[in-house]
Amino acid sequence: PSSYVGFDSITQQIEHKLLKRGFQFNVIVVGQTGLGKSTLINTIFASHLIDTKGRLAADEPVRQTTDIQAVSHTIVENGVRLKLNIVDTPGYGDQINNEGCWDPIIRYIKDQHSAYLRKELTAMRDRYIQDSRIHCCLFFINPTGHSLRPIDIIVLKKLSEVVNVVPIIAKSDSLTLEERENFKQKIRAELAYNGVISYPFDTDEADEEEIQVNEIVRSMIPFAVVGSERTVIVNGKTVRGRKNRWGVINVEDEAHCEFVHLRNFLTRTHLQDLIETTAQIHYEAFRSRQLLALKD
Ligand code: GDP
Ligand code: MG
Repeated sequence: PSSYVGFDSITQQIEHKLLKRGFQFNVIVVGQTGLGKSTLINTIFASHLIDTKGRLAADEPVRQTTDIQAVSHTIVENGVRLKLNIVDTPGYGDQINNEGCWDPIIRYIKDQHSAYLRKELTAMRDRYIQDSRIHCCLFFINPTGHSLRPIDIIVLKKLSEVVNVVPIIAKSDSLTLEERENFKQKIRAELAYNGVISYPFDTDEADEEEIQVNEIVRSMIPFAVVGSERTVIVNGKTVRGRKNRWGVINVEDEAHCEFVHLRNFLTRTHLQDLIETTAQIHYEAFRSRQLLALKD
């Protein structure tokens, strides 16, 4: 007689359930107008999108984003369904007086938490609550090579209190490799000095391997990226890239920029952790504040 009960099949049961349901991943992009936000999003996800309500064709004109708008896509890879919500924001900090220009963005993020909480508190709550909470905020930094603007620091700080913030250097093709490295160090120092807590966090549960991966990610942040919705031909191969007077930048070449690292981080190594951290840290903090306020 064997003492084997068979509950180890639970991992398959869980996997089957999860696959059937699919994953919801919500990203918001923030930064000045013209820094390539819309372009980068299309560069990351465009080749994978099957049904989409956004701008994807390269020959469509670039529209300027005037209000906060969410676009949903579904991506399927090897039977895994990823429901992707991309929230594009109008350039903030474009005005002469930028006082409070971050308010609509912060409000949008909090509104999603609040909607989730309301559904959670309903007596007849749905089995699965539709999750529109923002799991990741890509913050676009102007590639000046100098330092962050005071307004960037204010906004980064406010954002990092409510969402996982991942800063990236936009249009990094305008920096030399040396400038890029110096700029990255400078930004990391400024973030630390100003107490901006940027993702990833090491939790108590993190094991050796996770801590190591996070360390590597921290040493790369801010990712210096280049986006392009066009393809160019390099050595007879079609790649996503930008052609200028001097040559071609292959967006997916790690020697040219850190686009591939950002994409791996978002879609391969940290997708689940971004979702979990949002629920366990940011949403939890929001939830306990709201519930405490109700008591008084
Ligand atoms: P958004 O206002 O932040 O959404 O910016 P867009 O995505 O609309 O891009 C503004 C302009 O910058 C477009 O002409 C893009 O082709 C260009 N652009 C986008 N990404 C890059 C990049 O990485 N490098 C360079 N040099 N230009 C870029
Ligand atoms: Mg845009």
